[in-house]
Amino acid sequence: MLIDELKNLNLKNWNTAQDDVGIVWLELDRFDKSTNSLSSEVVREFGLIVNILDEGLGKKTVKDLIKGLVIYSQKTTGFCAGADVNEFVSIAEKGNWEAISKKIMSDGWYIFEKFQKISDRIPTVALVRGFCFGGGLELSLACRYIVATDDEKTSFSLPEVTLGIYPGWGGIKRLPQRIGPFGAMNMMLSGKFINSRQAFRIGLADVLSAPRTAETACIRLINNQPGRKKLSFVNKLFLGPLKKIAYFLIKKSLKGKVQERHYPAPFGILDLWFEQNGDPTKDVNIHNKVLGSKTAKNLLRVYLLREKLKGLAKVKTNITNNTSQYTIKHIHVIGAGTMGADIAIWCVLQGFTVSIQDVSVNQLARVVKKASHDFGRKFKNKYKQKKLLDNLIPDLIGSGIEKADVIIEAATENLEVKREIFSQIEKRSKPTALLCSNTSSIKIEEISGKLRDPNRVIGVHFFNPVLKMPLVEIVKSKKCDQNFLNFAISFTAQIKKLPLPVKSSPGFLVNAVLMPYLQSAMRTVDNGISPEDIDHAMKSWGMPMGPIELVDTVGLDICLAVGATITQSEPPPLCLEELNRKKYFGKKTNQGFYKWEKGKKVLGKKLKLTDTERKNLAENLIKPLIEKTVYLVEEGIVDSEELADAGVIFGTGFAPFLGGPIHYHKNG
Ligand code: NAD
Repeated sequence: MLIDELKNLNLKNWNTAQDDVGIVWLELDRFDKSTNSLSSEVVREFGLIVNILDEGLGKKTVKDLIKGLVIYSQKTTGFCAGADVNEFVSIAEKGNWEAISKKIMSDGWYIFEKFQKISDRIPTVALVRGFCFGGGLELSLACRYIVATDDEKTSFSLPEVTLGIYPGWGGIKRLPQRIGPFGAMNMMLSGKFINSRQAFRIGLADVLSAPRTAETACIRLINNQPGRKKLSFVNKLFLGPLKKIAYFLIKKSLKGKVQERHYPAPFGILDLWFEQNGDPTKDVNIHNKVLGSKTAKNLLRVYLLREKLKGLAKVKTNITNNTSQYTIKHIHVIGAGTMGADIAIWCVLQGFTVSIQDVSVNQLARVVKKASHDFGRKFKNKYKQKKLLDNLIPDLIGSGIEKADVIIEAATENLEVKREIFSQIEKRSKPTALLCSNTSSIKIEEISGKLRDPNRVIGVHFFNPVLKMPLVEIVKSKKCDQNFLNFAISFTAQIKKLPLPVKSSPGFLVNAVLMPYLQSAMRTVDNGISPEDIDHAMKSWGMPMGPIELVDTVGLDICLAVGATITQSEPPPLCLEELNRKKYFGKKTNQGFYKWEKGKKVLGKKLKLTDTERKNLAENLIKPLIEKTVYLVEEGIVDSEELADAGVIFGTGFAPFLGGPIHYHKNG
């Protein structure tokens, strides 16, 4: 019996069973991890299964006994997170990266190819519950059908590009065949995630099923073997005779978004699809160009840095609210301006009830309007939008203070205002509530100094725009209690942000390194170089946004105030003072260094600098940022070079392909 042969393999990571009607149920269950990922061992074991199936199906007697096959996972964390990135990183660190990663790519490619041939002979189904990423999606694509459960956790992605690598196990070949080249490249070149409903809509999933009927849906597919949804005529043309046109159109749009010398992976993916239909074994150059690049190694490093920050959140706190673990239900935000509004909206999106307080009714009305707009953009479902809006409570008199488990002050950057707010909070809040200030530059000790109990005030510093920036600096004051500090770190993780512990010092880490950089950019404006040329120089160098545009986005008033605290000994740039005098505060007033219309920058002056001038300017402008990062590590403001690199990448968007300022400083 074939099932006995499969069982006799004694696999560690795959469980096999056959039901009464002849369907083989193949469970992916990585034995040593709570999350499924495809380590080389898991893929090797899958290869053994594929060999036995392949041989068995060659024998008539066996073929009749297998009606179909379902691959699934029971892990609550999801279906499969893809290739084992930690394994990749440890290979990269050992130095034999090119050779071994090439073998990993080709082994997976051949096994999944062979498996797809099995899917042509018997109906195979991937039953996807929870996330299905990278190699996990490539495995699903090699099945004949994909069943996705209709729930919030199920999502699909080929995120390899974000790690500087490419999907080498058939994703580049099979995804365009399933959903057409434009949709497929949109997913693969951005690494974006789609939920199960979107997956069903675009034809990636064949069936969208309620979780409790998902197994029945698989059995029905195997029994009925319906034809797969056909690609549209246009998509067929772009996969066939018009493939070259599709290739050029996608490449043109890609070139407008990223530079190949910084990020070779998306270009490699596109070329591999066009030239070899996704087969990495046929193209030696792709390997050297993409996997052999510094970018790939640096992006893998950035992945690890992210994991390191996530790992920091595994801290314990003794603070209890009648449960063994402190459960956060209610968050109260004070200040409904740029930051407070977005912090409140973000926390609601993470499932919390949030009250938001401001002295201005207009500001509160603005938050509700913005929330309604943001929720509407994020969710089509009106009921979901309404449910989220119900969890955002405008609160003019601050009655949320008494109920809140976490209170975040995000009011005007003024010491007296903040002191007064905290003295009110101290009188009215629960004794176990975590008290946070989002201050950018004021020392936490100064804010909490006059309180009876300053030990639970922690700096919890979000970045603008909150909905996009993943980092939150956790600022430890001299007086703060370790339990409340841990509480703050754990809270940050619960709202799905990356916590970076820093010491209380002017500008903490991120603003302290950013300010000298922004100021040197503005002094360059004082010296007659245009904002357009400066921003272009830094974007060509690899920054996601130019420094002058960043000043306009953050606000010129904030930059003046924060700059004064951080670089006390130096006078502010003349242009910054001048524009502030005119009340040109940047994007929020539609005028700063640039003119802004409907939130979009209006470009004025033509670029004047030559390529060499631009390159030299960029290297000069970034120097102060790098030097300051090195200095702050030496001063112990942040615990290590790695954490400093992580903070500057996730807090400023510092060119990730360079691996962080200190890494760049040391390795180029
Ligand atoms: P903002 O001027 O946009 O908003 C401040 C809000 O606080 C206003 O709505 C104001 O009415 C309200 N306010 C003032 N006094 C109050 C009081 N006593 N009670 C309740 N509300 C009060 O400012 P912002 O840019 O949102 O900055 C808020 C805080 O976040 C500051 O400490 C700032 O340093 C910090 N921060 C700002 C940024 C940024 O990019 N703007 C980034 C990180 C941190």
